[in-house]
Amino acid sequence: MPELKNRTALVTGGSRGIGKAIALALANAGAGVAVNYRERAEEAASVLEAIHRIGGRAVAIAADVSIAGSVQHMFSTIETQLGPIDILINNAGIAPVRGLDDITEEDFDRTLAVNLKSAFLCTQAVLAGMRARHWGRIINISSIGARIGSGSISIAYAAAKAGLEGLTRGYALRLASEGVTVNAVAPGLIDTEMGKPLIEAGVAARIPVGRVGTGDDIAQVVMLLVSGDYITGQTVAVNGGALFS
Ligand code: NDP
Repeated sequence: MPELKNRTALVTGGSRGIGKAIALALANAGAGVAVNYRERAEEAASVLEAIHRIGGRAVAIAADVSIAGSVQHMFSTIETQLGPIDILINNAGIAPVRGLDDITEEDFDRTLAVNLKSAFLCTQAVLAGMRARHWGRIINISSIGARIGSGSISIAYAAAKAGLEGLTRGYALRLASEGVTVNAVAPGLIDTEMGKPLIEAGVAARIPVGRVGTGDDIAQVVMLLVSGDYITGQTVAVNGGALFS
């Protein structure tokens, strides 16, 4: 477990699912944590409670991370309440179920905005500070769907996650000499609200290790990437053997 007592982290979509597990892991390592969410304030409040119970520092902040103005407002609030961000986890995402014949242009734009543009907006907002302090960790939560396609989930989701991995490599190259690492983690099927439709459809039976993943499986890898300074530009697959990459 890295020692993060003097660090501040933001987890987008940190109120439930994978983001919640990451927020709790960061808080357990001593980081101050900003827990972003879009609308479910009660779930964010319960993450805050859990962090406060272990004596951690945390704030919850509602913002739609696909909208530049909301992101700007979110960062100025976090900086006032917790300080500048050292660790950015771009985790917020949506995975609408759409067939080839019913996906609309609006669906496509929304899916790219929430899963991909949000990472660009949040990264741009933290860059100046990380470069000035010569220390930063940015981790983008991708998906196995970037490589194997997204099944019943909209094709826009696979496109957005593949784009997120490209964005990861682009930033990693430009920032490698400045103390800032940028990596992606690509989960397979994880037991969260988002994963539920696929779990119900029986996809779990095809996972070689014999179980669905948990948020903690992803958080473990995030903590590894936060702790080192020599892994950058990588996408780490965490999928129970569902895809060897
Ligand atoms: P959940 O649906 O369980 O949680 C999504 C989180 O994102 C919630 O906190 C939600 O906030 C937040 N969120 C959604 N839209 C926005 C937005 N526009 N602005 C800010 N916050 C937003 O998802 P998971 O935990 O399962 O997924 C987390 C990440 O992992 C996603 O990027 C997903 O694509 C990826 N992933 C998940 C897999 C899985 O099987 N579960 C597999 C592969 C990748 P609120 O509660 O307020 O709505």
